Amino acid sequence: MTERGKNGGLIASAPAPLRSKLGKLGILRDEDLLTHLPLRYLDETRLTPIAQLEDGMLAVAEGEVTLCQLQFKPRKMLLVELQDDTGSLQLRFFHVFAGQQAALAVGTRIRASGEVRKGFFGAEMVHPKYRKAREGMALPDHLTPVYPTTAGLAQNSLSKLIHQALESLPLDDTLPAGLLHKLQLQPFDTSLRTLHHPPPGVPLQQLAERSHPAWQRLKFDELLAQQLSLKRAHIRRRAHAAPALLGHGRLLAAFRAALPFSLTGAQERVISEISRDLTQSYPMQRLLQGDVGSGKTIVAAFAALQAVESGYQAVIMAPTEILAEQHYLKLSAWLEPLGIQVAWLAASVKSKARNAALEALREGTCQLAVGTHALFQQPVEFARLGLAVVDEQHRFGVAQRLALRDKGKGQVPHQLMMSATPIPRTLSMSYYADLDVSIIDELPPGRSPIATKVIGNSRRDEVIDRLHEACRNGTQAYWVCPLIEESEKLELQAALSTHAELTERMSDLKIGLVHGRMKAEEKAAVMSAFKAGELHLLVATTVIEVGVDVPNASLMIIEHAERMGLSQLHQLRGRVGRGSKQSSCLLLYQTPLGDIARQRLKAIQESQDGFEIARFDLELRGPGEFLGARQSGQPMLRFADINLDQKLLSQASQAADWLLQHDEQTVEAHLQRWLGSKADFATV
Ligand code: ADP
Ligand code: MG
Repeated sequence: MTERGKNGGLIASAPAPLRSKLGKLGILRDEDLLTHLPLRYLDETRLTPIAQLEDGMLAVAEGEVTLCQLQFKPRKMLLVELQDDTGSLQLRFFHVFAGQQAALAVGTRIRASGEVRKGFFGAEMVHPKYRKAREGMALPDHLTPVYPTTAGLAQNSLSKLIHQALESLPLDDTLPAGLLHKLQLQPFDTSLRTLHHPPPGVPLQQLAERSHPAWQRLKFDELLAQQLSLKRAHIRRRAHAAPALLGHGRLLAAFRAALPFSLTGAQERVISEISRDLTQSYPMQRLLQGDVGSGKTIVAAFAALQAVESGYQAVIMAPTEILAEQHYLKLSAWLEPLGIQVAWLAASVKSKARNAALEALREGTCQLAVGTHALFQQPVEFARLGLAVVDEQHRFGVAQRLALRDKGKGQVPHQLMMSATPIPRTLSMSYYADLDVSIIDELPPGRSPIATKVIGNSRRDEVIDRLHEACRNGTQAYWVCPLIEESEKLELQAALSTHAELTERMSDLKIGLVHGRMKAEEKAAVMSAFKAGELHLLVATTVIEVGVDVPNASLMIIEHAERMGLSQLHQLRGRVGRGSKQSSCLLLYQTPLGDIARQRLKAIQESQDGFEIARFDLELRGPGEFLGARQSGQPMLRFADINLDQKLLSQASQAADWLLQHDEQTVEAHLQRWLGSKADFATV
C-alpha cells in the first residue's frame, strides 16, 4: 500500500459535497490534483497605487476604507470605497454575507485584489479578493495561480488542496531520463512546481502563452498519454481474430470489367490498401477519408466483394435513411448482376420484407446488408459476418460501432470507417491514432469547379428570377432552407413556406419538397422523382447534406448560409458539381454579417478543397466539433493544442510507438498518472 493509502488520501477524506464538486472537474484521485493546472496567474507580488490602475488590469491595491454602505438600488449591493495617497477605488459586492460590513468598516486598512474596471465612477473592482492589511505587510513572492473551478468550489479551497497534493504525493517522473534528454524536456516535478507556484522572475508571457518549458513538458505528457492509450487500443484490437478474406478474385475481376468508369489513381491505391488489410487474420481498423464526391462508395463495394468472394457477408451502414437507400440502390445495381443478394434494412422496412431479409442474413443466403442503425439492433444476426463498413462514421457513436463488431460470432469483422468530412492531419494524428488512415485525395475526372457566389439577402428576388430562368432551360436545382438549430418545428415551417412561396412564384415549374419530418418512403419518392428529372427544383432542409447523389443537379441556393458551419456548407455544396455540367452555388446571407460568419463564407467561396476547408474550420472552432460522437468516449486534450503544438504531437506519437514496443512499465505508469480510471474509456 502506498504512503497516501495509509493516510487515507486527500480526496477520500474530503466531505462528500466537496468530492462531488471535484468530480465535476475530473478530479477523482489525489493524483488528478497534480495535473489540475492553472488557467492563468495573478501578480499579487506588488501593490499598484490607485491612481495608476487601468481598465482590465489584474492588480492589488491597498488603502483605507472611507465608505461602506449597503445599497438596494438598482440591486442589493455592498459598496466600499478604498482610498490611498493617490486616489480612490470602489469595491462592489453583490453577494453580501454576515459580518462583511463589520470587516470592511470605515477606517479599516484593506488590501484588495482583482480585475480593474474603469467606469463612470472611476476605478472599481467587482467581487475582489480582499484581506485586512497592516502597513508594510509582506506580499507573496510568487504569482498566484488561478485554477479552473466549478460553482460552489472556492478558488482558495481548491488551491489549498492542490498545494497539499504537491507536498504529499510522490512526483516521480514517469518517463525515462534518456527520453527526456533526447527531447530536451524538463523533469516532471520541477515543471509541475513551476506551473503551480511560479517562482519570482518567471516570464509571465511564457506562462500565459504556454510556451514555457514547464508547459511544454506537461503538454507533452498529456499528448503522450493520449497517443499511448489510443495506440494501445489499436494493438489490443489486433489481438482479436478476424477472418482472412483471401477470395478467389473472380467476382472482383468481373466487377472491374463491368465498371462504367475507370477508377482514379487514388481509388486504386486505397482499394489495394484495404484489400491487403482484409487478407490479414486480425481485424482491419481503417478510416477512409475522401472529400465529398471523391467516390468512396465504389471503394466500399470492392471491399464488400472481397468479403463475399471469400465466403463471408458484409454490411454497409449509413446514418440516414436517404443515404442508406441510395447506397442500397447503387450497390444492388452494381452487385446483383454478379449474383449477389443485397438486403435492405431500415426502420421503415415493413415486417414481412424485414423478416425475410433477416432470415436470409441469418441463413447466409444473402451476402450483403445495407441499412441504417436498424442494422445493429438486437434481432439482426449474420451467418458469417466478415466486414462492416460504416459510412459517415462521425455520426455514429462508439457504442453503435462496437455493436456491429460484436455480430461477428467469435471472430471480429474487419471494419472500414468512411468519412466525408476531411480530418486535418494533426487531428487524425491525435484523436484518431487508433485507426489506420487511407485518403482519397483526387476527384474523378470531368468535374468542373463549382462557381460559388456570396450574395446578400436583399438580392433574393433577383436570385429567384435567375433560378427560374435556369430551370426553364433544363437545369435541376436545390434550394436549401435555413438551419434553425433552436427549433425543428420552425425549421419545418420555414421549409413549407419557402416551398409554397417558390411554387407560387414559379408556377410553371415542378417543385418538390423534402424535409426531416417526412416518412422515409415519402422522402425516397421525392428523391427518386428528382433523380429521374421529373422535378426542376428540390426545396430541402439540410437533410440532403449527407451523401445525396444526383449528378444532373447543377445549381444550389443556400439560404441563411451564415448560420451554417464550414464543413456543413462544404458538404451541401458537394451535392452539385457531380456531373460534367458547369455548376453554381449561391450562398444567401442575412445582413449584418458577424466576423466569424464572414470568414466562413469567404473560405467557402475561395476554396473547394475539403482538406483546406477543414483545416480552417479546425482553427476556427477547435477539435470538439469535428469529433462528434467519437468525442464522448474520449477525454479531450486540456492543455495541448493540436494546431499550436504540432511538433510536440509528432514527438509524442513517435515516443508512444517506441514505448509500446520496448517499455511496458513506463506505458503503465504514464497512463496511470494521466488517465487513471479513465484509461478504460480511451480504449473503447
Ligand atoms: P462520396 O465519396 O461523396 O461518397 P460517391 O461514392 O457518392 O462519393 O461518388 C460520387 C459520384 O461519382 C457517384 O455518382 C459515383 O458513381 C461517381 N464516381 C465514383 N468514382 C468515379 C470515377 N472513378 N470516375 C467517374 N465517376 C466516379
Ligand atoms: Mg458517400
